[in-house]
Amino acid sequence: MDDLPPLTYTPVDDIPAIHQRIVNKFHTHETRTLAYRLKQLRQLYWGLKDEEPALLEAAKLDLGKSAYETYLTELGWELNDILFMCKNLERFMKDEKAEDTSLMNLAMGPRIRKDPLGAVLVIGAYNFPFMLSLGPLVGAIAAGCTAVLKPSENAPNAARIMQHIITQSLDPEAYQVVQGGVPETTALLERKWDKIFYTGGLGVGTIIAKKAAETLTPVALELGGRNPAIVTASADPRLAARRLLWAKLVNAGQVCVSQNYILVDRAILPAFLQQLETALHDFQPKGAQASEDYGRIINERQWQRLQDMLDSTSGKILFGGKTDKATLFFEPTVVQVDSADDPLLKDESFGPLIPILPVRDLDEAIRTANHVHATPLALYPFGSATDTAKILAQTRSGGASINDAFFHASIPTLAFGGVGDSGSGAYRGRASFECFTHRRSITRTPGWVEGLLEVRYPPYTPAKLKKV
Ligand code: NAD
Repeated sequence: MDDLPPLTYTPVDDIPAIHQRIVNKFHTHETRTLAYRLKQLRQLYWGLKDEEPALLEAAKLDLGKSAYETYLTELGWELNDILFMCKNLERFMKDEKAEDTSLMNLAMGPRIRKDPLGAVLVIGAYNFPFMLSLGPLVGAIAAGCTAVLKPSENAPNAARIMQHIITQSLDPEAYQVVQGGVPETTALLERKWDKIFYTGGLGVGTIIAKKAAETLTPVALELGGRNPAIVTASADPRLAARRLLWAKLVNAGQVCVSQNYILVDRAILPAFLQQLETALHDFQPKGAQASEDYGRIINERQWQRLQDMLDSTSGKILFGGKTDKATLFFEPTVVQVDSADDPLLKDESFGPLIPILPVRDLDEAIRTANHVHATPLALYPFGSATDTAKILAQTRSGGASINDAFFHASIPTLAFGGVGDSGSGAYRGRASFECFTHRRSITRTPGWVEGLLEVRYPPYTPAKLKKV
C-alpha cells in the first residue's frame, strides 16, 4: 500500500467528462462481445490476485479486519464470483425462447435477447468495501455495460487500492473510478445513467431513488438491515448461540445481514444465555480487545453513534459494554431489553450490539418481528422444521437462513437483495448479470405467414372473425 498515491477526491468538474467517456465507449458496441467481457473479467481477476496482500492490508487499515476474515468474507467470494461468471457467461448471454406459445406464434421465433443496459453507476458502501463495489461491477462488465464505480470514502484505503487495480486491469475507456463523498456523488447523480446500483443506508438510498426518478433511471438499492433472529423453544441453544454470536463478531457487527436483535423464547432463555457466554469465551479467550480476529468500528462518527445507542437503552447489559473511542474498539455487548420499542431494536445498530428480547411463545415472536420491521433484509429462525416453517410463512424478508445467520448470502448462485424498504433489485451469480441486462423481446415475421395474417387486416368481416 505504501507505494500507492494517497486517496485524492475526483474534481467535481471532471465528472461530466468521465461520464461522457464511458457513455461514448458504450456506443462503440465493443463492450457487448463475449470476448471483450471475458477479457475484462479475467484481467480483473488477475489484478485482484496480484494485489492480494495490498487488499488484505487495506481492510486491516480501514476496519481492523484480520486477513483471514477479509479473505473468508469478501476477497475469496469476489474471486469465486468472477470465476463463476466467466464459466457461465456464454450461457447467460444466449437468447431465451418464449415459453409455451401457439404454433402460429412459434413461426415468428419469439425470444428474449440479453442486451446490456448501457453506462451504469455503482456506489459502494464501506463495510465490505471490495465485495460491495466489485460485486456489482462484475455484473455490469458481464452484462456488457460500461461503468463508473464510486467506492465509499469511509474506507479510504480500500478505495485507493480498488482504483489502482481497476486502472491497471480494465479498459479505461469503459471503466472508471470516481473518488469522493457527498459532493462528488451528488455530481455523479446529476448525470443521466442507464442504471444506478447503490449499497448503503435507507436515508441516502431515498436520496438516490428520488434523484434517479427525475430521469426515470432504474435503480437497484441494497439497503439496511434491522434483521430479527428468532430462537424458538425447539432450538438447539448451543448452536443458536455460537452461530448468532459469530454473526456479530464478523466485521465487528458492521454487516447489513447481521441480526439486529434476537427474540428468545423464555423457555430456552437461561440455556441460550449460558451458551452465549461460553461461546464468547471460546471465540475470544483473551477477550475482544486482545483478539487478533476482532475488527474495529470504521470511524469516530460511527463509534459515537453506537455508544449513544448503548447509552439510550433501558435494557440491562449482560456481557460486554467495554468501549474505547481512541482505538475505535467496541466490545460485543449483550443487552437484555424488555420492550420491542427499545432503541436497540428499533434502530439498526450496524455494530456489535446484541439486544435480546424474551418472548412468551412463537406467536409473540412473529408478531414482534413484524411489528419492529415488516420487511427486513434478512431473518434467522432457529428451531424445529415446523417452527421455522411457521416463521417463514408469517413474515417477509429479503432472504433467510434457517438455523444460521448469513448463510443464504454466501451462496454465489443465490440472488441477494432486500424487499420493501430493505431494498429492491438483487445480484450475485446469474442475478448480477441480469441486474444490468435488458431482456429485449424479439420476433421475426417471415413472408410466408402472410396468408395466416390476413385475419388482422380490415375490412373486419364475420368470416374473418371465425378464423381468429
Ligand atoms: P457509507 O457511508 O459507505 O455510504 C454509502 C455510500 O453512499 C457511499 O459511497 C457514500 O459516499 C454515499 N453517500 C453518502 N451520503 C450521500 C449523499 N448525501 N448523497 C449521495 N451519496 C451519498 O455507508 P452507509 O450508508 O453508512 O452504510 C451503512 C448502511 O448500509 C447500513 O444501513 C447497512 O445495513 C447498509 N448496507 C446494506 C448492504 C446490502 O447489501 N443491503 C450492504 C452493506 C451495507
